[in-house]
Amino acid sequence: MNSRVGRAAAAAGWSAGVALMLALGGWTATAAARQQHQQAAADGLTVVEVRPNFFLIAGAGGNILAQIGPAGVIVVDSGTTDAADGVVAAIQRLTPLPIRYIINTGMDADHVGGNQKLARAGMSILAGALAAGAGLGDSLLTNAGGASVLAHENVLTRMSAPTGQQAPYPAELLPTKTFMYRMYSMYLNGEGIQVIHMPNAHTDGDTAVFFRRGDVIATGDLVDTTRFPVIDVARGGSVQGELDALNRLMDLSVYNLPLQWTSDRTLLVPGHGRVYDKLDLLEYRDAVTVVRDRVQHLIDQGRTLAQVKAANPTLGYRSQYGAESGPWTTDMFVEVVYNELAAKKGAVAR
Ligand SMILES: [Zn+2]
Repeated sequence: MNSRVGRAAAAAGWSAGVALMLALGGWTATAAARQQHQQAAADGLTVVEVRPNFFLIAGAGGNILAQIGPAGVIVVDSGTTDAADGVVAAIQRLTPLPIRYIINTGMDADHVGGNQKLARAGMSILAGALAAGAGLGDSLLTNAGGASVLAHENVLTRMSAPTGQQAPYPAELLPTKTFMYRMYSMYLNGEGIQVIHMPNAHTDGDTAVFFRRGDVIATGDLVDTTRFPVIDVARGGSVQGELDALNRLMDLSVYNLPLQWTSDRTLLVPGHGRVYDKLDLLEYRDAVTVVRDRVQHLIDQGRTLAQVKAANPTLGYRSQYGAESGPWTTDMFVEVVYNELAAKKGAVAR
């Protein structure tokens, strides 16, 4: 009985709040976005409206996706700490409404570095609901009135210190709300939003954020269009988990068929690089699958790691996704694939 009363009160509070926010300032941000291009160029950021009310902010480390609606701004990933002031300013040029949620797709410093500054610039959505008499109790109401920072539990675990050790990240950057199950769902800004955990892929804390009405998926580093996917074995990543994740993203995505001349299609905003559609994702998924299968074939023939590398198993994909230098080279990718498959077979990895 109590919960029914609470729900009715919450609904009343919500609609009043939304009406107030709509009155305070329109949230359709297209005109602002056009000005944004010149302004943002000054601080090295590029802002692109990929779909009405969905903005890609690039140049702050990992890609940032901002979705704007009557309840405020939902931000997927927060970039580097150094770029955070510029990101806050870019979002504030798009809308006067506050940031409500920051969702981290993973634990990398160039995806979580802006958590504190973006959360402080924002405002907890439930503080307003409580003030309106909603009577809700939820652990979302933390973070000192700032925006909530949502991530999979493994992100918090990896970012925190094991007892007696120095944490890899300052406490201010940690998620304030985590989940341990397959999926965290919420409904905001007219969107069903599903935060989907993809186990042991790039790391063990990856999520894809699926905006169901806008049909936009933020993939984090499950997809990196500039190179082969980074498999961070030390933090729980695996090639098989990565392939499972790419296949699951394929299932969630829809082509622009049968009307191929239209732009209607699922958009995938990757952790790095350009926006993908399902056809791009198919090529990426196939590249990883083909390399995996070639390495498996070579292992079955008894080849060593050196022989596998010499056999060039990334042939045909190297020009598009390969890297000869930098933190994630083609050789490193092949090595991770080899070690995982060799271990599965019980062979010695070398
Ligand atoms: Zn990244």
